[in-house]
Amino acid sequence: AKTLRLILGDQLNHHHSWFNKKDNEVTYIIMEVMQEQQYVKHHIQKIIGFFMAMRNFAEELRNEGHQIIYFRLDDEDNQQNFKENLKNLIEKLSIEKFEYQLPDEYRLDQQIKEICENLEIETQVFDTEHFYTSREDVKDFFKGKKQYLMESFYRDMRKKHHLLVDNKLEPFGDKWNFDHENRKKYDGKYPLKAPLLFKKDVSDIVKLLDDLKVDYFGNIKPKEFPYPTSRKEALKVLKYFCDELLPSFGRYEDAMLKEHHTLFHSCLSFSLNLKMISPKEVVDQVIDTWQANKKEIDIAQVEGFVRQVIGWREYMRGIYWDQMPAFASKNYLDNKTKLPSWFWDGKVKMNCLKYAINNSLDHAYAHHIQRLMVIGNFALLIGANPNEVDAWYLGVYADAVEWVQITNTRGMSQFADGGLIGSKPYVASANYINKMSNYCSGCKYDKNLRHGDKACPFNSLYWNFYIKHEDKLKKNARIGMVYRLLEKMDKSEIDTIVNQGNHYLSNLNSL
Ligand code: FAD
Repeated sequence: AKTLRLILGDQLNHHHSWFNKKDNEVTYIIMEVMQEQQYVKHHIQKIIGFFMAMRNFAEELRNEGHQIIYFRLDDEDNQQNFKENLKNLIEKLSIEKFEYQLPDEYRLDQQIKEICENLEIETQVFDTEHFYTSREDVKDFFKGKKQYLMESFYRDMRKKHHLLVDNKLEPFGDKWNFDHENRKKYDGKYPLKAPLLFKKDVSDIVKLLDDLKVDYFGNIKPKEFPYPTSRKEALKVLKYFCDELLPSFGRYEDAMLKEHHTLFHSCLSFSLNLKMISPKEVVDQVIDTWQANKKEIDIAQVEGFVRQVIGWREYMRGIYWDQMPAFASKNYLDNKTKLPSWFWDGKVKMNCLKYAINNSLDHAYAHHIQRLMVIGNFALLIGANPNEVDAWYLGVYADAVEWVQITNTRGMSQFADGGLIGSKPYVASANYINKMSNYCSGCKYDKNLRHGDKACPFNSLYWNFYIKHEDKLKKNARIGMVYRLLEKMDKSEIDTIVNQGNHYLSNLNSL
């Protein structure tokens, strides 16, 4: 039967079994549509990264002999949404069967199901053949549990896939987890490497977006677009990571530096999330590299990385499919504060936020600890509305697709799920940020002060947060210590801290 196969922008998997054979009866459709530029306001580098990768993917498939239709955003017959474009194509090409791959986003999953229900031809859905797990695996694994402990899922994954375990399924290095060795400030012992950048000229796409008045934010150097946008380039990023960065990955995983925004992180999330490379090939190559270089690379570096990919990444996806759509409106702490304006222009005086936000605006990237312990920490301490926090994170990062963004943001970072993902809120005062970074030096604010003009806002906001949410948090055994400290504090000291925090809360735009 004459078949139309839809490929979404984050389904650029060259190794999908769809492409094993060329078939004149099959036409593939890939489209740039306004619908996808508008459901949230995106960073310009995110839009361009997706478009470039989609265009390259279409070109490669075409060169291999597949029949491809590609809609550019400014094509005349582009109706700017999936529904109408598909309807028109099915009619025009006299299509008899429509096929698609499971969308990873709930919104699109619903939409395409609905499109299918209204089609009069046969439809069929396929797996994306990307993840280790199915949509339901995490849900099944934690059946009946109140809290979804990542670590137990992760250990099960290690055994199931025979990764970093011996024949008796015992972990290499005699430990499952080397997390406590991954908490070093950068001490200069291992030299930093520049991230691998591709520097492509994308001026024509910038012009296209401007001509069509696409509403975007963030910064870009149009002649030096840095992202990998083909499988070949994604593989180069992986090789660069294995050769140059893996030996220090775990050690400095939580460190932050003014002078370097990627440190030893892999920068693979964009390539992975668009499926230009698979988690399995990433993990296999990392483990092979370690096995060939055990003198230079110790297990803590490798285990830390494998945990992120087979643990956190698969776990978050499973939580997403277990919890959506209700997850998207969770707000356990009833937070309502508007995000300050400097989330969009980077004009903030607190050094740590200045670096973390401007890294995000300049590169559509920030590493995990900047996302979690600087920006997310701040948003939670001010009681930011999780809808706004989600929209910002979903827009700003090039790797942001909802299944991995919302679970990390609303769940892990904002505690809006009431502790399903993290057993306590990820909040910290200036002390933590100073311990993990060099941001505090030269800052307008003093990391050691809790009140007064120069006091670092993180300190008073931290105590304010715990005081405000005492009814919900005090009963949490992992937090007891904080409340014991508060009980020992002078009443007048507490009042002064609360006043200081409230002062900052009323002046968020000028911090
Ligand atoms: P590395 O540090 O090199 O890690 C390797 C890989 O592990 C990553 O590429 C990623 O695929 C995976 N990984 C690491 N941590 C996580 C995690 N917590 N959840 C899922 N996968 C993980 N990641 C996204 O891909 N998209 C997002 O939109 C996103 N939003 C986030 C929002 C918040 C508030 C937080 C705290 C984290 C978010 N993350 C997100 C997870 C993580 O921060 C990024 O995956 C990582 O920073 C990407 O950079 P990297 O490839 O250099 O990662």
